[in-house]
Amino acid sequence: MNNIEAFERATSVLVGGVDSPVRAWKGVGGTPLSFVGGRGAYLEDVEGKRYVDYVGSWGPLIVGHSHPQVVRAICERAQRGISFGAPSPLETELAETIRRTFPSMEKIRFVTSGTEATMTALRLARGATGRSLVVKFAGCYHGHHDGMLVSSGSGSLTLGQPDSAGVPQEVARCTAVVPYNDREAVKALFNEKGQDIAAVIVEPWAGNMGLVPPLPGFLEELRNLTAGHGALLIFDEVITGFRPSEGGVQQKAAIRPDLTCLGKIIGGGLPVGAVGGRAEVMDQLAPLGPVYQAGTLAGNPLAMAAGLATLEILASPGIREKLEDQATFFAQGLAEAARSCNLPLSVTRLGSVLGLFFSSSVPRNLDEVRATEGSLYPLFFHAMARRGHLFAPSPFEATFVSLAHDRSILENTLGAALEVFPELAE
Ligand code: PLP
Repeated sequence: MNNIEAFERATSVLVGGVDSPVRAWKGVGGTPLSFVGGRGAYLEDVEGKRYVDYVGSWGPLIVGHSHPQVVRAICERAQRGISFGAPSPLETELAETIRRTFPSMEKIRFVTSGTEATMTALRLARGATGRSLVVKFAGCYHGHHDGMLVSSGSGSLTLGQPDSAGVPQEVARCTAVVPYNDREAVKALFNEKGQDIAAVIVEPWAGNMGLVPPLPGFLEELRNLTAGHGALLIFDEVITGFRPSEGGVQQKAAIRPDLTCLGKIIGGGLPVGAVGGRAEVMDQLAPLGPVYQAGTLAGNPLAMAAGLATLEILASPGIREKLEDQATFFAQGLAEAARSCNLPLSVTRLGSVLGLFFSSSVPRNLDEVRATEGSLYPLFFHAMARRGHLFAPSPFEATFVSLAHDRSILENTLGAALEVFPELAE
């Protein structure tokens, strides 16, 4: 079976041939590749062709595909029970491991996706404050629950659907949207509606419109405004958690949010999410408090084991430095390659996650991201894919480097970029 046959067969039974929209390659055109294997830095498609993978399942695979230690942990766990639907020491162990590196997460609840984590965090914030309005930033993506599909990033941005059909106006009205990095706009909103605001939710580095860093003082302003008005500050670190340093952006920026959402890396590639934060807020959740939340597969033993194994690898001596070294080498290499071809390319980097913008300056918000040279990205994507290097199939997604992307692999990709960039600069 080739890729075209595989995708045609999929489209006859799966909506659009995919289970998550951005996988359909609408952002770059063409027929998506279908994969049968992943090992280290490589993915293998149904035709047996190998690709260096810079998507990493959209973030979870920070140690690479099928790392032996993660696979062993999952297999050993599976031999002893796949799901309990009851407490298990593994959940406690992963929660303790996370809390050691995210001290702001005094109490934690595991869920099965990042979407559920942010949905729960917002419900908690509303329950704890008795207010209904929440503030999000244009281009940030917090999953696909109704209230967050307003000026959203990621796949909904790729498909030109930042505001989804099916979200009632009454629900959308409970979300106020502000441009990312716009301190004055947030201040003005708090001046006008501070009494009604339950929470501000933010990706502390926005990773769903490329990778946009916060301007100096932006996150501090959010902390001050929320604290001053009795609202909660929610850091959505589903992408950024465990990427820049063990403790995420909050550690790097020395800001303590009230609630934090995690996902991706903490499940090592299996479905997981977590919300955690100040104990008195978290204790509002059922069974202790009045805010309801539940999950059949929440805290699933296989996901907990995969997450623990992944965090264990990351905590091993020298691993952080190795990741940082590889990602820095790659980011600098891409920027230099583009410079040598007179191609405007701005590369942002947070630990081992990168943002690539075909523009001479780094965008600060969604409008500026949209103004970058978007038409070059599909050309870049296909030219690199033809050479066996797979980037995200959308200009609005980040680029992920894993532990398995050693120097020789990265050099190979940089060599391919040096072949491709002159075509783009024409
Ligand atoms: N929050 C952020 C920052 C994300 O990037 C994502 C997914 O990419 C989510 C939440 C939703 O996570 P999930 O896809 O696991 O529901």
